[in-house]
Amino acid sequence: MSINRSLWHRLAQRDSLPSLPCPRCEAGKLKASKQKIKIKEPRYSVDEKDDHQYEWEPDWSVGRWAASLECDEAKCGEIVNLIGDSEWVEVDVSPGQWGLEEALRIQAVFPAPPLIRASKNVPKTVSSQLQLASQMFWTDVSTCVARLRTSVECLLDHQGVPKERLVKKGKGNKIHRMNLAERIDAFANGSSHKDQLHSLRHIGNLGTHATTTVDDEDLFDAIDVLEFVLTGIYDTQTINAKATKLKKK
Ligand SMILES: [Zn+2]
Repeated sequence: MSINRSLWHRLAQRDSLPSLPCPRCEAGKLKASKQKIKIKEPRYSVDEKDDHQYEWEPDWSVGRWAASLECDEAKCGEIVNLIGDSEWVEVDVSPGQWGLEEALRIQAVFPAPPLIRASKNVPKTVSSQLQLASQMFWTDVSTCVARLRTSVECLLDHQGVPKERLVKKGKGNKIHRMNLAERIDAFANGSSHKDQLHSLRHIGNLGTHATTTVDDEDLFDAIDVLEFVLTGIYDTQTINAKATKLKKK
């Protein structure tokens, strides 16, 4: 299932935080009540307003907020906390008329809703990297994609793909440390996953180099690719078993 891109925004309206998936249960969505969103203005911001009464602009004010969301599945009720700051955004109030509105910039979420809900067949080393990626989504997208790259390394480790290779040197052999590209080739030569794994390595590399920015669309594409690969590698057996069972009906 592809990621629902419309839900994953770091900027939200005050009265409509996104209904993100519950980190604990599969069916639940996170809901917030207005009363549970608390926005506070620090003293220095209030003072600045008093000091500059005549030239003061609303977007000078600083807002710090916190919200507590709850899973809407009655039997789960997981609690997820969000924190962030206010951001004043220009909005189209009516045709031809623009105005400023205070929006909520999400800076951190805990426990983090999953970008990918990996099945139980996916090894813990891989899923814990996905969990870290989900946490980093709110804070730093480059670190988030770097975590996806690490999850590919963990996948290859779990599949028993070697990290070293013997190469001929002179009359003997020398141990060569394989990089991720070589390990992917060793694992997926001739497999349909080869290009997909290389694309994840590539986007992960962009995330690792601080000079390059990774945008959300690239990240969401990577999430979709990784989910497809994980299903292909870890869930094919389960799906085939179900298909065999159906054929026997
Ligand atoms: Zn839940």
